Amino acid sequence: MGLHKGNTAQYELRDGSKIAVLGGGPTGSFFSIFALKMAKMMGKEINVTIYEPKDFTKDGPGGCNRCGGIISELLLQTIAVEGITLPDRVVRKGIHSYKLHTNHGTVFIATPAFEKTIATVYRGGGPKGMAGGETESFDNFLLSRAAAEGAIHVPLRIERVESRGKPVLFSQNKEVMEADLVAGCFGVNSTTGKIFEEMGIGYKQPSTSTAAIAELAMTEEAITECFGNSIHLFLIPDKDIKFAAMIPKGQFVTLCILGEDLSPSIVREFLERTLVKSVLPSSYSIECSCLPRMNSGAARRPFADRVVICGDAGSTRLFKDGLGGAYLMGKAAAKAAVFQGVGEADFRREYYPVYKSIIYDNLYGSFLYAVIGQYRRWKYLTKAMIEVVRKEQRDTDNTEKILSNILWDMFTGNERYKNVFLKSLKVRMHIDMWEGLFKSLLRRDDAER
Ligand SMILES: Cc1cc2nc3c(=O)[nH]c(=O)nc-3n(C[C@H](O)[C@H](O)[C@H](O)COP(=O)(O)OP(=O)(O)OC[C@H]3O[C@@H](n4cnc5c(N)ncnc54)[C@H](O)[C@@H]3O)c2cc1C
Repeated sequence: MGLHKGNTAQYELRDGSKIAVLGGGPTGSFFSIFALKMAKMMGKEINVTIYEPKDFTKDGPGGCNRCGGIISELLLQTIAVEGITLPDRVVRKGIHSYKLHTNHGTVFIATPAFEKTIATVYRGGGPKGMAGGETESFDNFLLSRAAAEGAIHVPLRIERVESRGKPVLFSQNKEVMEADLVAGCFGVNSTTGKIFEEMGIGYKQPSTSTAAIAELAMTEEAITECFGNSIHLFLIPDKDIKFAAMIPKGQFVTLCILGEDLSPSIVREFLERTLVKSVLPSSYSIECSCLPRMNSGAARRPFADRVVICGDAGSTRLFKDGLGGAYLMGKAAAKAAVFQGVGEADFRREYYPVYKSIIYDNLYGSFLYAVIGQYRRWKYLTKAMIEVVRKEQRDTDNTEKILSNILWDMFTGNERYKNVFLKSLKVRMHIDMWEGLFKSLLRRDDAER
């Protein structure tokens, strides 16, 4: 693969070129892994330094990049092809099914392949008291993989970036590096976006909403009995909550509530609901809870000469598989930098198409969530949906299971939203839904008689 000839030589990475990666979360690590691998393929020796102040081996908030920790089937398979296989010490549970809870019934959706193909992980050392032992966090694992490729991890927070022809980075008021390229992989849970806005390159941070996460501590026996190897998903009519998930992991269950600007009381209010109580064991405690920001709309101008911004700080997949988005964008940015160059035109040509494809796909996602919102809101639509999925799950001869697959793909992040949308156009599913709706309306009439 040769360099793009339209590129000016000043933006080519050469032996000894320096890349500063701001943030050692999944995006920063994926970017670094691929930049180093690709440079080796080109016979170039580049220097990659990852600035990351967090210690991902620490338990509690200090080591945690707050997240549900579901690794989609798609991402697991994709990174395995790249030679990155998650070891058992990183996986907290293998998941083979979802249990969907609504106010009008519960249904079990098994993985279409009947394998435990989804993994749950912790992004840091886990809730307080969990660090050490045999386990490792996902972020620490990826950061170590980047280090194994040759990246240097510096535990500093970058506080200022000045543009002096090349970007110059400062931490604790000291100049720490003049870089040939800065990769901004800083997510949305810090004030770092402002540093890039103030550089005057046209970057505007993504829009965000507030989500809620809590770690629920309970015995492993209780987890096995109440949750098994399933993620429990709650689709309930509530103006603030889009959906909520309970994700089993060893001695804890991670509760994630997604919605618009949630308040600190949301976790307790949610846990007090009769439907939610019916899933939980009689005894558990809330170990910790937080309100992380979530990317809900892409950043503007995520690149300039010698600057590229990826992952959550740029754009990500709506409400799911943000880690898959981190992989896609980290790799695309690395490819642009190594094979094309680090000028704005290079990123526009090689990186921007991937960035935009995520934005376009999220438009389908927004539409699908709006449809699911209606199903959640209208009792008879909820009942019809449960009816159809139950029938599909019972019918072993039915290999298509259209609605089950659509719900699986929506909530696991296994498919692009566009493909989920295309599946939803299948006539068979609409016939089944009308039949389900008709039956639930008939039952209402019977009950009223
Ligand atoms: C409630 C919730 C649940 C989620 N659940 C899932 C899920 O189950 N599965 C999934 O795939 N995705 C999930 N996501 C999305 C996922 O967490 C993100 O998409 C992912 O973390 C993005 O990775 P990132 O590396 O871009 O950013 P981050 O993970 O936020 O990492 C950014 C890193 O940059 C560092 N940093 C920031 N500023 C600086 C600085 N100035 N100098 C140096 N370092 C800096 C931070 O310390 C941090 O480590 C969830 C998100 C939320 C909010």
